[in-house]
Amino acid sequence: MAALDRLGREARVAVDVVRAVVAFMRRVEAGAVGRLLTKDDSTPVTAIDFAVQAFVASRLARECDDIPLVAEEDSASLRADAALADAAVAAAGALVPDIDRGRLLDLVDRGAGTAGSRFWVLDPIDGTKGLLHGRQYATALALIHDGRVEVGVVGCPRLPLGQDVEGGVAVAARGRGAWWTSPAGSDAGPLAVSRTSALSVARVIRSWEDSHGDVERLGRILDGCGNRVPPVRMDSQAKHVALAAGSVDVLFRLPLSSNFRDAVWDCAAGALLIGEAGGRVTDLSGTPLDFSAGRRLVRNDGCVASNGALHEAALEAVRSSR
Ligand code: AMP
Ligand code: MG
Repeated sequence: MAALDRLGREARVAVDVVRAVVAFMRRVEAGAVGRLLTKDDSTPVTAIDFAVQAFVASRLARECDDIPLVAEEDSASLRADAALADAAVAAAGALVPDIDRGRLLDLVDRGAGTAGSRFWVLDPIDGTKGLLHGRQYATALALIHDGRVEVGVVGCPRLPLGQDVEGGVAVAARGRGAWWTSPAGSDAGPLAVSRTSALSVARVIRSWEDSHGDVERLGRILDGCGNRVPPVRMDSQAKHVALAAGSVDVLFRLPLSSNFRDAVWDCAAGALLIGEAGGRVTDLSGTPLDFSAGRRLVRNDGCVASNGALHEAALEAVRSSR
């Protein structure tokens, strides 16, 4: 705990906010707060996504109001769907006192901030499909400064790591380290990547969704290095936490199309966690992720993250699989 107390003000605010979200999500999962609604378009969004974004936006505005917020959701679908908006207001009521529809819309739209020299990045519910189907999901909050991640916090209400069988919060601050802490904040243990040094026995992790990555190419990569270990499939930046904790060794994000670019909120917090736990994160060509290009990583193609020891071999395996 003391390690977290010594972090800078923004990092401490981020940890407090994400802890509150994890506590809220446990109550949601227990059925105490409303129902999860799903919009029927291809990526699901629930009332909970908006409620969490509104809550985080309100806390950041109160405590760090000069830093813009770049977040996944906007209010368009709330404005078009009164039932969804009502459900989001009801859910947010447990987090933001006296919230009404107008305030909810304003708070959600705070996420349209400018991705300039310094900004927060938020995915309120990363892996909404995971949330809906009983798998992993996360709340990811990061602070970007001059294109680099300074603070990364990933709350994982369902991730079984160490003794916190009911989930926890992973925290990283650039140059300071990375930790896994219980939602209540009673303890914090350092996160450290694995020491696995051969790709042939590496534990690989990838998206749960086949549609989020080139599964055939991953198969070729694993065949090429004689790896017969079935990849772990997991939604959200819970993957990055698992890698930072040493539970897996390499993460591949292999875009299905050559023009797909990841959103910054799907990578930023998790990337710093892995770096500060001793690992390495690049795109498929070995270039570091560049967070100075706006809401998407337009200068990077895909992602390879590893424990560091395996990184060059993983990049070479990617090159050979083209
Ligand atoms: P993951 O569970 O790692 O696949 O990450 C979930 C995130 O992937 C969601 O927040 C989506 O924004 C994002 N996503 C949506 N479509 C794609 C796609 N075609 N390829 C990669 N990621 C996607
Ligand atoms: Mg999301």
